[in-house]
Amino acid sequence: MSGLAGRAAIVTGGARGIGETYVRALHAEGARVVVADVLADQGKALADELEGARFCELDVTDEAAWDRVVAETLASFGAVDVLVNNAGIANAAPIEHFTLAKWNAVIAVNLTGTFLGCRAVVPAMKAAGRGSIVNVSSVEGLRGSERLHGYTASKFGVRGLTKSLAVELGPDGIRVNSIHPGIILTDMTTRIDPARLQIPLGRPGAPGDLAGAVVFLAGDASAYLTGAELVVDGGMTT
Ligand code: NAD
Repeated sequence: MSGLAGRAAIVTGGARGIGETYVRALHAEGARVVVADVLADQGKALADELEGARFCELDVTDEAAWDRVVAETLASFGAVDVLVNNAGIANAAPIEHFTLAKWNAVIAVNLTGTFLGCRAVVPAMKAAGRGSIVNVSSVEGLRGSERLHGYTASKFGVRGLTKSLAVELGPDGIRVNSIHPGIILTDMTTRIDPARLQIPLGRPGAPGDLAGAVVFLAGDASAYLTGAELVVDGGMTT
């Protein structure tokens, strides 16, 4: 139904958190999934559990490592049909204390990592005449929030990069969309007090709440969608 059976999908940051649910959901649809992460032990354990999946160690900021991951995916599965750029980090501080190191770290992983991933898979997708790239932004890519300066800038950047790529790559059959999660309870959000949030659906998200959206964007049900922003936030930013 999703058309994902047999397709090859790379999920960055797939070893834990929300990314792990993307890996499991794409695998359940029959995709052959590459778990790409800096967390080797967790990533390998997950790939071992899922028949046909494989783990590739990847720091998304490392240009050469991207070439290796794409080459290994092509060698194993013969294609790269789907890329989910999910790896991300967050940091926060008032602007006077927002160090250059903090800024550079969050821009490097969230924005430059997404750019490098998109660039690395495009030749294989162009050769195949098809592909779906899902870039993970955030509600912080749609609005401003105090103290999250680098994170917000990176996620706005991911949203913008998604649009320029959608325009450029549409004629090649490659779709590029962004997903904008709200507050999802993972290791990234342990400092957030859910009781202080105003969410129309009455609760913060669980990691699995995003998986259906990623399957939709990765698969054929979204065949006429590109450059779109899918907000999955329980109505928080409505
Ligand atoms: P998480 O911290 O639980 O998981 C992040 C994953 O990315 C980990 O597996 C980590 O090892 C990996 N990673 C980090 N740096 C990496 C690098 N340089 N190279 C490769 N992998 C790397 O976080 P999460 O909450 O699951 O977030 C996943 C994505 O969703 C992120 O892009 C995040 O910005 C986005 N997001 C999360 C929320 C939320 O509320 N949790 C909300 C909006 C958007």
